[in-house]
Amino acid sequence: VGDGEVFDVAVIGAGVVGCAIARELSRYPVRAVVLEAADDVGEGTSKANTAILHCGFDAAPGTLESRLVRHGYRLLTAYAAQVGIPVEPVGALMVAWDAEQLAALPRLAVKAAANGYPGSRIVERPELYLREPHLGPGALAALEVLGESVICPWTTTLAFATQALNGGVELRLGTRVTGITPGGPAAPHELATSGGPVRARHLVNAAGLAADEIDRMLGCDGFTVTPRRGELVVFDKLARPLVNHILLPVPTERGKGVLVAPTVYGNVLLGPTAEDLTDRADTGSTRQGTESLFRHGERLLPALVREEVTAVYAGLRAATEHADYQLRGHPEKRYVCVGGIRSTGLSASMAIAEHVAGLLVEGGLGLREGRDPAPVRMPNIGEAMPRPYQRDDLVAADPEYGRIVCHCERVTRGELRDALGGVLPARTLAGLSRRTRAGNGRCQGFHCGAEVRALLAGRVDPAGTGDGTDDGRGGGAGPAPAGDPVRSVTR
Ligand SMILES: Cc1cc2nc3c(=O)[nH]c(=O)nc-3n(C[C@H](O)[C@H](O)[C@H](O)COP(=O)(O)OP(=O)(O)OC[C@H]3O[C@@H](n4cnc5c(N)ncnc54)[C@H](O)[C@@H]3O)c2cc1C
Repeated sequence: VGDGEVFDVAVIGAGVVGCAIARELSRYPVRAVVLEAADDVGEGTSKANTAILHCGFDAAPGTLESRLVRHGYRLLTAYAAQVGIPVEPVGALMVAWDAEQLAALPRLAVKAAANGYPGSRIVERPELYLREPHLGPGALAALEVLGESVICPWTTTLAFATQALNGGVELRLGTRVTGITPGGPAAPHELATSGGPVRARHLVNAAGLAADEIDRMLGCDGFTVTPRRGELVVFDKLARPLVNHILLPVPTERGKGVLVAPTVYGNVLLGPTAEDLTDRADTGSTRQGTESLFRHGERLLPALVREEVTAVYAGLRAATEHADYQLRGHPEKRYVCVGGIRSTGLSASMAIAEHVAGLLVEGGLGLREGRDPAPVRMPNIGEAMPRPYQRDDLVAADPEYGRIVCHCERVTRGELRDALGGVLPARTLAGLSRRTRAGNGRCQGFHCGAEVRALLAGRVDPAGTGDGTDDGRGGGAGPAPAGDPVRSVTR
């Protein structure tokens, strides 16, 4: 699309939600562009969450969030199996620790049924300790929810973006939207961006923590984002045998509370906290946050807090003054706002995308004759399926999959090479870690950092202005480039 040309749709934000919307749009013969301020997809809230694929059993019945989480859970479960996103259906136990919480469990079972989960059941104390022998003393009973799963949030966003790119959607990274003015009938939206002007007929605001700012640029004023920080602790893989399910607390007004969950990478997570901030960029971990998590952990699973900590991190939920998602179409403005996607956006992402497509149609966008996106198979970075170094066939065909670079996480040169190629190459160390796990292990890159940096430097031009094309060596276990020509612009 040249300077004078107009996109059918511009999506602001390439988090898990914006990428899911881009993938959905790639099914139709429309010209769409995604504008992302960061240098990679999934760099905002989508990279730092609790990584649970919620089935929606505890959402407020009747809300849009409840409907979209439930539907999104089904869509993403099927999609993950199709494209190879690591998911482990470990199930959840919501543990009651006092009489009040115990009394709440039957009510929560009724709520779960109202949300479409008749299968939840009360697990009495003896069974609970049989199933979770390391649980701290004093647990009274639990509500079992079979559907809750753990998922790889990074692969999810990358899979959506890869399919969107393969389907012809343009992705402009390093492109911040700074202003929006109304244009003429042919191009109702004129966007000022750090990468030059962009014109579009329809606009989707999936800007996460900045969704309210974008909304105001469009003359709307329906909500204000208050970043709600969630801090988490990642425990070493030696802690993994300590927990069999996602261990949930009984939720309160302020959120889902502090949980213990296995990860698909073989670690254990403790968190998140919930603290309202004013700074929309403050993703720092704090001493108070970590100490409060350890206090919770001591009660939930005392043996866990004696294990070694691999990392701490924090993410910001895009909370608003409203209880539900701020997801609405403004057909007269040819604009869809996807705001307030607080703590369930990963689970609901595919359903949100479908819903947004419907709202775009109401705004006059012709979305007929949708086709299935060309299939992709994502590299497996989860522990439930064989990793490349474990696959004799792969190593025999390409010895690079047998050369381990990151020994903590068993990441091979072949995987790093693939992640630096393909349609959506990593351009930063963090991007490389999200694609491969390199540097995420117990030594946090102390051992492999130099080699990984050298590989990155060899593949990314120093000015960071490469055009994102593959040199032909990528492939193998990497995202399979397929389908229409790819148009990826990286600044
Ligand atoms: C601690 C925590 C735990 C969570 N746990 C879970 C969980 O277990 N399961 C679950 O389903 N969900 C969970 N969530 C919620 C989930 O992570 C979010 O709902 C989801 O990531 C939101 O995605 P998004 O695409 O809307 O936002 P983001 O990922 O923040 O993406 C928005 C993007 O917009 C870009 N952007 C902003 N302004 C501009 C601009 N002006 N121009 C261009 N680009 C712009 C940003 O750079 C960003 O990349 C959790 C969240 C947190 C914080």
